[in-house]
Amino acid sequence: MKYIGAHVSIAGGLDKAVERAVQLRATAFSFFTKNQRQWYATSLTSEKICAFHHACRTYQYTSAQIIPHGSYLINLGHPVSDKLEKSRFALLDEVNRCQQLNLTLLNIHPGSHLNMITEDQCLKRIAESINIVLSKTKGVTIVLENTAGQGSNMGFLFEHLSTIIHNVEDKSRIGVCIDTCHAFASGYELRTENACIKTFSDFDKIVGFQYLCGLHLNDSKSPFNSRVDRHHNLGKGTIGLTVFSWIMKNKQFNCIPMILETANQDYWKEEITWLKSEQDKNRS
Ligand SMILES: [Zn+2]
Ligand SMILES: [Zn+2]
Repeated sequence: MKYIGAHVSIAGGLDKAVERAVQLRATAFSFFTKNQRQWYATSLTSEKICAFHHACRTYQYTSAQIIPHGSYLINLGHPVSDKLEKSRFALLDEVNRCQQLNLTLLNIHPGSHLNMITEDQCLKRIAESINIVLSKTKGVTIVLENTAGQGSNMGFLFEHLSTIIHNVEDKSRIGVCIDTCHAFASGYELRTENACIKTFSDFDKIVGFQYLCGLHLNDSKSPFNSRVDRHHNLGKGTIGLTVFSWIMKNKQFNCIPMILETANQDYWKEEITWLKSEQDKNRS
């Protein structure tokens, strides 16, 4: 069973996000629990929480199919201590929101060293930030997304993800989400089936499939190994369709949310239908 969906808007309320997923015939979805470009958000009212729960029940989405995305402002590896504190507080707030919504996964970008500390120091800070937040919360797994390696972003090598996991105390509440566009842009080849097998067997050796909690399914506008993060619609970019068909026929990607964040949302319904048909092809 594959959970396939897209990153939907929360305009009009969290329950509207669920309805948008339904309209796309999605079996998974992602959303921001608050405005992703602002530090502060008013707390969720019990009314809003109930409306979200009700919508999930009505349309039969379980927490295994939902992977919210954390704010872009959070930098868990920030070199400056007051900024680091601010990020840790913001992550704590996001995890609390997930808890209130009965959600079990929260996808975040690892963090950036801003050329002020070493990569190693940054990775240690990120793990420390996660340890602090996990110790104050329960039930939610922090899911680290691999990055394209733009600027001073960490997380573009599988080794970065494994180093962070290694330093996180509660291994039961840490996971990873692999974005195909980011992987390709950071130098992981995905254009042929053999390349996909190689990339994901490297992933298994370095990080481990047991930590895989989600995928972002994006083609790329930028070239291989360009370290530039530009998403494109499936089959329209520099990666092509092969990796997406390969994922759909591979059981190792069962039962984790797989989320489209492709450039043009008008294609989402079509893309979801196509991904489902690729999965069905391999069933018969
Ligand atoms: Zn992301
Ligand atoms: Zn991206």
